[in-house]
Amino acid sequence: MSHPPEIVNFGANIRFRPKQYYEPRTEDEVLDILRRHARDKIRVVAALHSWSDLLQSDDAVVCLKRFTHIETRVDDEGHTHATVGAGCRIKFLLKELGKQNLTLPAIGLITEQMIAGAIATGTHGSGNHSISHHVEEVRLAAYNHETGEPEIFTISAGDDLRAARCHLGCMGVILSVSFRCVPQYYVGEINAKYQTIEDVLAHEEDSPLQHFFLQPHRWGFTVQHRSLAQPLTDPMYRLDMRLYFIGFFVTFDVGLHLAFKLLVSVLRSRSLTRLFHRHVVPFLLLEDKTYIGRSDQILTWEHELFRHFEIELFVPKEHLPEAAEFITEVLKVCDGATREPSEKVAALLDRIDMRDRLASLHGVFTHHYPICIRRILRDDTLISMATGDDECWYSFSFITLSRPRENFKQMADFLADSTTRLFRARLHWGKYFPLGHDHARTAYPRLDDFTTICRKYDPLGVFQNAFTEEILGLNTAEGHPGS
Ligand SMILES: Cc1cc2nc3c(=O)[nH]c(=O)nc-3n(C[C@H](O)[C@H](O)[C@H](O)COP(=O)(O)OP(=O)(O)OC[C@H]3O[C@@H](n4cnc5c(N)ncnc54)[C@H](O)[C@@H]3O)c2cc1C
Repeated sequence: MSHPPEIVNFGANIRFRPKQYYEPRTEDEVLDILRRHARDKIRVVAALHSWSDLLQSDDAVVCLKRFTHIETRVDDEGHTHATVGAGCRIKFLLKELGKQNLTLPAIGLITEQMIAGAIATGTHGSGNHSISHHVEEVRLAAYNHETGEPEIFTISAGDDLRAARCHLGCMGVILSVSFRCVPQYYVGEINAKYQTIEDVLAHEEDSPLQHFFLQPHRWGFTVQHRSLAQPLTDPMYRLDMRLYFIGFFVTFDVGLHLAFKLLVSVLRSRSLTRLFHRHVVPFLLLEDKTYIGRSDQILTWEHELFRHFEIELFVPKEHLPEAAEFITEVLKVCDGATREPSEKVAALLDRIDMRDRLASLHGVFTHHYPICIRRILRDDTLISMATGDDECWYSFSFITLSRPRENFKQMADFLADSTTRLFRARLHWGKYFPLGHDHARTAYPRLDDFTTICRKYDPLGVFQNAFTEEILGLNTAEGHPGS
């Protein structure tokens, strides 16, 4: 055990100093920690890239950053499976798998997360299931239901696996995660602009991995069409590709973010922010040329270079166009560009009695970051955001680089409250999460099954914190562990 450090997450919105902090090296050390804290609270942290209160703990915090092993095995049908230490960073895992010409079956936009942390919240990219969906097995240190003694469980089937695939840190300490790897693949990317969401969706079949951006203040869409492609080996092409990556890094990962920072933190100018979106941002992406790169090169960005704050809302496919229109109108009112939303959106707001609340937000926040929209295929989990019967879900990411964040939060709270009621929206578990048990209960039909499985491995609720108890409904008399 080392002297407890202050724990600060990526977004710097969560800071706390636990009473005890552990970085165990072996499974026996993990079991000792569980024995010592069998009547306390324990939370596990990974790369701290979540914004939600999942990370908070007043008692003991465990980090498995030393569990970084990677083992691969080939099954009878020739498929390679990887078993990965919980604390292994995804970027390290991709590098190691790449040596065998393999990769992960899914990735998100960055690769900084540790594998157990990434699956905990259903981390996803676009055009695929979440990473959680692909988990085949986890090893878990938790408590024996009958004896109360710490024990290691291997979970590889049924609802226990579905729960562990997106576990919110509520089942115990995940020690390792196993996946079936896929052969390394290449992705072709071509950028384009469209005015309507129908035009964007019309390309989805040819471009299944695409993600797109709703451009604030211009209110059109910028798409990065993406599909599988054959690698090009011509040296001139490789040079061209390298220049594209460098150009993208300089223009987007760094330049665009510096510009947004300048506009919202230094100049604090709403009118310049609007002008910038209308007259500069649309012309930054090169169009009409396909660039082909290794999957992880194309599908990820250096999105972690600037500390930001984010909420992400998921809507089922059937509500996508209406949700996009609704969000556009809400953002226009929050910006102050219009006082009243369109008639259609006003009628929707009347339905949930939220028209006055939107009016009270007039001019509260000028959104300054393109809203990324991604498609997530149905997950076989209990509570990841894309679980359930819908064919797929589309997520809207709202990011701010500005501080203080209170005005952004007012807009985000409104979006969360309204879209959950109008469009069955769900919130990313790892991002700003202003809703409670009522939302979780309505949004996730299998929430109770998840809670029952958590109790099976953690009868006294050692791995819960105030946030998870609220979300799972465990802070009521009937819901309290042990009652
Ligand atoms: C810059 C940036 C980009 C992002 N991009 C995406 C994206 O493209 N797609 C997306 O879906 N999300 C994205 N996210 C969100 C991020 O992927 C999730 O919040 C993820 O859960 C963070 O993983 P982590 O390793 O940092 O885990 P942490 O944030 O440290 O922990 C997350 C949860 O996992 C639990 N946990 C961690 N390790 C263990 C363990 N060994 N045993 C038990 N519980 C454990 C923790 O208790 C906590 O509940 C992004 C976040 C940032 C900051």
